[in-house]
Amino acid sequence: TGSSCLLKLLYISDLHLDPTYHVTEDHTKVFLGSTGIPALGPGVFGDFLCDSPYQLILSAFSYMKQADLQPEFIIWTGDSPPHVPKEELSTDVVINVIANMTRTILQFFPQLPVYPALGNHDYWPQDQLPTSTNAIYDAVAKLWSPWLNPEAVATLQKGGFYSLVIKPGLRLVSLNTNLYYSPNQVTVNMTDPAGQFQWLQETLELSRQKLEKVYVIAHVPIGYLPYAINTTAVRESYNEQLVKIFRNYSDVQGQFYGHTHRDSIMVLLDHQGKPVNSIFVTPAVTPIKSLLEPFSNNPGIRAYLYHPENYALLVSLFKSHRRNLEQRSKWKLEYIMTETFDIDDIQPHSLHELALRGRALQLKPHM
Ligand SMILES: [Zn+2]
Ligand SMILES: [Zn+2]
Repeated sequence: TGSSCLLKLLYISDLHLDPTYHVTEDHTKVFLGSTGIPALGPGVFGDFLCDSPYQLILSAFSYMKQADLQPEFIIWTGDSPPHVPKEELSTDVVINVIANMTRTILQFFPQLPVYPALGNHDYWPQDQLPTSTNAIYDAVAKLWSPWLNPEAVATLQKGGFYSLVIKPGLRLVSLNTNLYYSPNQVTVNMTDPAGQFQWLQETLELSRQKLEKVYVIAHVPIGYLPYAINTTAVRESYNEQLVKIFRNYSDVQGQFYGHTHRDSIMVLLDHQGKPVNSIFVTPAVTPIKSLLEPFSNNPGIRAYLYHPENYALLVSLFKSHRRNLEQRSKWKLEYIMTETFDIDDIQPHSLHELALRGRALQLKPHM
């Protein structure tokens, strides 16, 4: 298949809008939640110590709209509110920020299906997403209903997750992995919060019987954190549960996550060591980092090319926003994964090959 026949999806995550961001002479007052630490060099499109100004988010969406991207649909894996102390937010503020982002996306892409997932910041207090219906699940079920079907809206309202067939033979599963996130106190000691494991297992089983392919999206990723050795993002027992379920389903063509704000890939192996799932973690739109972190990310979005019939994911492109002195919106192609890493596609066996190659490089003695 030539890449001209391939279809495209766009992926955004971690917008973290800070409505209080403004460029001002006093760099300690660039945003309301600032704890007195001066911004590094605040511009119209943001600063590495601050969350996204509305201008940056608008520039991301205009870029996604005008460039030769023309996606079939958009995946959006949550975290709309800013990183500010609990007291600065409330349930209403969180709902307003999510509503604002939803309306902005609808304005830019009125005809396009968008598939969202909830993030750990999409709740108040943050991280404490509950296992049953509440004001926020209610609100997002309404806000996101234009993109979903009634069954999906119903499970979203109940537990913050859903699934639906988005193309003939392609199912999208949006998980609420915030229920498994280590700081979530609500779910401590629960074996199956909101019954999501059972639901996932049944959904994937039914999907297999119907010979559907599956894309899984969620906010907090499965697997180890990219910046902490041997630490999983979700509680370890929940991580094992997820791994156990996904190992049996090679019909899962791709898993898409956000949350870490780090551009990373993972590959899941089955018990025989055969690669079965490709896992992608996309960097954030917000450039924020803490003062102590050595690295940040430029605001980024991802595009994936997939096969129109079997939905195999074949190419992944990363686009990012570069700061520039002219203070103009400047998005550009950063890299194409298959070309940069010289792999045939982004299928599990190719990512596995890449991982083994990386390990071989690491094991090579430094001369
Ligand atoms: Zn985030
Ligand atoms: Zn997050």
